[in-house]
Amino acid sequence: MKKTVLRTFSAMLSLLFVLSLLVGNLHFSASAASVDKGAKNFLVGFKSDIQTAQVNDIKKMGGQVKHQYKFMDTMLVSMPEPAAEALKKNPNVSYVEEDQMAYATAQTTPWGITHIKADQVHATGNTGSGVKVAVLDTGIDASHGDLNVSGGASFVSAEPNALSDGNGHGTHVAGTVAALNNTTGVIGVAHTASIYAVKVLDSSGSGTYSGIIQGIEWAVANNMDVINMSLGGSSGSTALQQACDNAYNSGVLVVAAAGNSGTKGKRNTIGYPAKYASVMAVGAVDSSNTRASFSSVGEELEVMAPGVNVLSTVPGNSYDSYNGTSMASPHVAGAAALIMAGNPGLTNVQVRQKLNDTAIPLGDAFYYGNGVIDVYAATR
Ligand code: CA
Repeated sequence: MKKTVLRTFSAMLSLLFVLSLLVGNLHFSASAASVDKGAKNFLVGFKSDIQTAQVNDIKKMGGQVKHQYKFMDTMLVSMPEPAAEALKKNPNVSYVEEDQMAYATAQTTPWGITHIKADQVHATGNTGSGVKVAVLDTGIDASHGDLNVSGGASFVSAEPNALSDGNGHGTHVAGTVAALNNTTGVIGVAHTASIYAVKVLDSSGSGTYSGIIQGIEWAVANNMDVINMSLGGSSGSTALQQACDNAYNSGVLVVAAAGNSGTKGKRNTIGYPAKYASVMAVGAVDSSNTRASFSSVGEELEVMAPGVNVLSTVPGNSYDSYNGTSMASPHVAGAAALIMAGNPGLTNVQVRQKLNDTAIPLGDAFYYGNGVIDVYAATR
């Protein structure tokens, strides 16, 4: 699962935070200066160090210096617009610009949420409440402020704490399913669904089939509604298939990443467990509904979901954009949670059928399965 660091996101947040503080100060002083009703606030930049004479010039023009910046030859000046225009012609002045407003950033909605129309489901009041989703992965960083992890278990002997994530993959997947609607960070497909951290992969991102099978059995024993497996191997296993079949037959919807093996001529590149009939194999598309070049192909490919530049939670109260069918699978797991919450009477088989019936066809099923999911249509 390749990842692309999106530093600009956090940089933007901190910049706007600073700007919002700045705006707060301006509000305070603007009310004090409201006596002069023709005056506006201007940022005035000088070509060299500000001298007393220049300050006096501004005062003579009817301006009031409200702040002098420390590391720039710039002042915040309250003055009438004609004075500002006149000041622009002063040879010592490099710029005069009217002060502007900035606003604190609100929560970002990752593109995948609107792409599968989860936002339209949220607008109906359905956000996935009461549905339990097991995230079989590298664990989930439960200390992340944008996640609420309901429980879990570890089947990685060297890493007994499922509520920690030494890799980041599981935390990212969990955020796509259920990042909180809390005005910061991102929002998940089913943001009030209950997510459970089932650690079956270690901090390097790998794990054994035997551990994954333990995780699947934990999900069945703990009454999970959905299992998300953003993982896969290239070889089949009778035991792994049996575990998936058992989970599906007991009423759990099992969703897995199709794999990141791309195309190899006309060969089938779907991984396991996605390849099993009891498991929904999910491929990745970009925001133009083009199949990601890495997205595995084959007859078992069932549906497509966003898997390119997917912004979600990562450990350390942070956010990052990842690529992979690993990112597509939790969109489907979250979508299943919305369908189940909206219609609790449906079986896992019926939920799967709805996702397939309402998917928007994108072309050759070998490359696109039934197409990209439309969870709003699936909940109608
Ligand atoms: Ca959030």
